[in-house]
Amino acid sequence: MQTVWILGDQLHRDVSSLSAATPKTSRVLFVVSTSFLGSRSWHRQRVHVVLAGMRRFALSLEQEGFDVDWRIANSMGEGVQAHCEQFGSRSVRVMEPADVRLRGAIGKIDRSEVTPNDQFLCSSSQFAQWAGTRKSRLRMEDFYRFQRVRLDVLMDGSEPVGGQWNLDHENRERPPKDGRAWPAPSLYPLDEVDKEISALIDKYVPKVTGAAWNGLWPTSSAQAQQRLNKVLAEVLPKFGPHEDAMLSSSWHLAHTALSSSINLGMLRPHDVVHAAEQAYRNGHVPLASAEGFIRQIIGWREYVYGLAHYWGASYADHNQLNATMPIPPAFRDANATRMVCVSQAVAGVEQRAYAHHIQRLMVLGNLALLAGVNPQAMTAWMRESFIDSADWVMAPNVVGMSLHADGGMMATKPYASGGAYINKMSDSCKGCAYDPKLRTGAKACPFTTLYWDFLARHEDRFRSNHRMSQPLAGLRRLSDLPAVQERAAEVKQMLAAGTL
Ligand SMILES: Cc1cc2nc3c(=O)[nH]c(=O)nc-3n(C[C@H](O)[C@H](O)[C@H](O)COP(=O)(O)OP(=O)(O)OC[C@H]3O[C@@H](n4cnc5c(N)ncnc54)[C@H](O)[C@@H]3O)c2cc1C
Ligand code: SF4
Repeated sequence: MQTVWILGDQLHRDVSSLSAATPKTSRVLFVVSTSFLGSRSWHRQRVHVVLAGMRRFALSLEQEGFDVDWRIANSMGEGVQAHCEQFGSRSVRVMEPADVRLRGAIGKIDRSEVTPNDQFLCSSSQFAQWAGTRKSRLRMEDFYRFQRVRLDVLMDGSEPVGGQWNLDHENRERPPKDGRAWPAPSLYPLDEVDKEISALIDKYVPKVTGAAWNGLWPTSSAQAQQRLNKVLAEVLPKFGPHEDAMLSSSWHLAHTALSSSINLGMLRPHDVVHAAEQAYRNGHVPLASAEGFIRQIIGWREYVYGLAHYWGASYADHNQLNATMPIPPAFRDANATRMVCVSQAVAGVEQRAYAHHIQRLMVLGNLALLAGVNPQAMTAWMRESFIDSADWVMAPNVVGMSLHADGGMMATKPYASGGAYINKMSDSCKGCAYDPKLRTGAKACPFTTLYWDFLARHEDRFRSNHRMSQPLAGLRRLSDLPAVQERAAEVKQMLAAGTL
């Protein structure tokens, strides 16, 4: 009998290693590695979503008639070896991992027979071929159009539906002030599997953070499909215009909260994209919303996956801005700061292992960039804290897009901004101890102070970047730069001490 080994982010019946298997031909192996679980601190919901997802998938395969080996072992390799010895398996079929480093390691595991990863619409070799045809930068917008055409998504023949490829300019509205309601994700009732997984976590994960599991995140394809159906009916029609906004009254606005389900394999990107396109073609969703959402999936998501593999494992080690600050206490404790925007984002991470894109990029990432938080420490913190984390998605998003630690390989200019941007796009500043317009003095917004200090510190590096000429011209006009830099030094000390 053939063994099929399912990894924790391959939780779908149709993955390439399993799609043709039947209970007569194959036994299915799941390995829970206790050394991996014990190697770092984890958000309780993050570790629960993966283990409960694996467990539910294992049980559904048992119901289908498969002989399932649910194995708790010190390491993955040891688990596979013990399985092979017990069942006399000569080879173990496993789908290529999405994670860059794990992909390198898996082929080295004895007796493994690797099938191609089919959880992305553009494989890493297709991406490499596309990248090889580019004469200049690997721009997301070019990749997105390449994907639209080759996948025939939102196309009228050879032209984009509606005549435009990208309707993002319609999607940058400020937060609405009308107190409207945003469709909230449903909770899934807790059951025996959740109890079993909570006990497993108590036993094998010594360092847990964050709130207890409350059923917010889907842990099976069926639950994920329910969430997708709700998204299509209620969220997608609103998706887009307020994508960049942050509101204290809603942690999700019109974000879909689908990333963990897609990254763990419970939903297949093709199905998600097809459903969104259908919703547009049925007249249920405006084009700007459907296009904006589809761009996130076939554009951004596939682009970062492609880049992560194209640039390889060492990409995650970049630190071109020589950033050395450890993770500040404010990221681990929402009460360790008076910065309302940061405290709100961190409270969301504590409560549900989630912050939406703009909170990740323009609050947490921006602060880390400006203050000089070490990119590898930031990646590690996000990896253990976020419900949807994975190395392929974090390396380009954290090291590249957010912290500009790759020296501009991914983003032509750093996503750096002072408090004015957060003030424009959120309602956080109103109740804050700091003032987004001030750059010096005890009430100065730390983002505003650190923004000018960041530009001054890296002026030489950015001088030849024409996209930075305007901010640098602003820097040269500052009459109080020494006072700003003095305040910036205080701010960084306070941030590191948890007193900001
Ligand atoms: C610093 C930083 C760290 C991030 N870390 C992660 C991470 O660990 N895991 C993760 O999946 N995403 C990550 N992202 C990307 C993005 O923020 C999340 O995918 C998104 O916030 C998930 O919430 P959602 O499902 O509600 O997304 P929505 O706003 O509803 O977007 C829909 C979907 O588009 C996809 N998507 C959108 N933007 C991106 C992107 N930049 N990269 C990859 N997929 C994208 C996701 O699958 C997402 O579910 C990160 C972004 C930044 C700036
Ligand atoms: S004033 Fe500054 S720190 Fe306070 S909420 Fe606004 S941007 Fe954040």
